[in-house]
Order: sequence, then C-alpha cells, then structure tokens
Amino acid sequence: MARHQTGSAKGIFHEHYTQLSKRLKDPYAEYQGGVEPAVCPTCKLIYQKKRWHRDDPQAKLLLKDKGAKRHLCPACHKIKDNYPLGIVNIRGDFLAEHFEDVVHLIKSEERRAEQKNPLERLMKIDKVNGGLHVETTSETLAMRLGHVLQRAFKGDTDFKFKSGNKYVEVDWSRGS
Ligand SMILES: [Zn+2]
Repeated sequence: MARHQTGSAKGIFHEHYTQLSKRLKDPYAEYQGGVEPAVCPTCKLIYQKKRWHRDDPQAKLLLKDKGAKRHLCPACHKIKDNYPLGIVNIRGDFLAEHFEDVVHLIKSEERRAEQKNPLERLMKIDKVNGGLHVETTSETLAMRLGHVLQRAFKGDTDFKFKSGNKYVEVDWSRGS
C-alpha cells in the first residue's frame, strides 16, 4: 500500500511525500570534497560546518586564495548536469492573459526559498507550446510553486511523484 509513491496525486498526498522524501536520497547532496571551507566557483556559496551557505565577504577571500578549495555546490552541479528534481508545467489561457504575474510569482517564490536554503533554485523557465516549463533544483521548490500558484490564482494543480526518487512533476492549469 504505497499509493503515495507512484502515479498522479492531488495535494492530499503532499504530506505523505514530504515525509517520504526525507528518506529519499538526493544524489547531489553529498559533498565529496572533504575540505572545509570550500567555495563554489559558479555561485560563490561557501561550504562550512557541513552545509552550504552564502557569505560573500568570505567567498571573495577564498576566491582570491589560489590554495582554497573550489567545489561546485549541489545546485550548480545539477544545473551543469541538467538534473532537475522538480518540474512545473503551467498551461491554460490564464497564462497568456497574466503572463507577467505568473512569472513574477514564480521568481519571488524562488527568492523566498533561496533565503531559507540557497540550494533551492530555478534552473529554467522556458516558454513551450504556449505554456511555461519550469525546472527546479529541489522537489520541494517545485511543490511550493504548485501551492503558491493554486493559492494566488486558483486553477488545478496535480502532483506526480516517482516511486523511490526524489523527483516531482507539478502540472498547474487554468482556463481564462
Ligand atoms: Zn554553486
């Protein structure tokens, strides 16, 4: 009876997935470098005390220091490998009529997520067949985008989880 692990699910299974996802592995989360502090050469996050965080003055110093350890953070690594953990597909006439509002909402939610966890980011926002295709570095950000779209604009949200994987696909749609 693991119905929340597979197939399509409405928001009711969101809590189940949140519990489940804690046990699932993000293959990019482990830092293999071993040396602290390390700095991500792409986004300038710092790895220290076993976590990635933003500290721009220290990043500046580390980037000047040729001996300092450089290591891609998990978010930049996923972006480089094109390995999203979350997808959000946005469709429907509402999008064409409120395009700017929808994009604004997505970007402001990313900023909010990034303040809590700098590894949660948007990877892509592409226009595809009159819709929007969004990719995220974390499955939780994709789920949150589904929830904020629903809260702000109503419409229909559908969450699809993949069995045994840290991965979520969210479909949101609304007619005009
Ligand atoms: Zn980075």
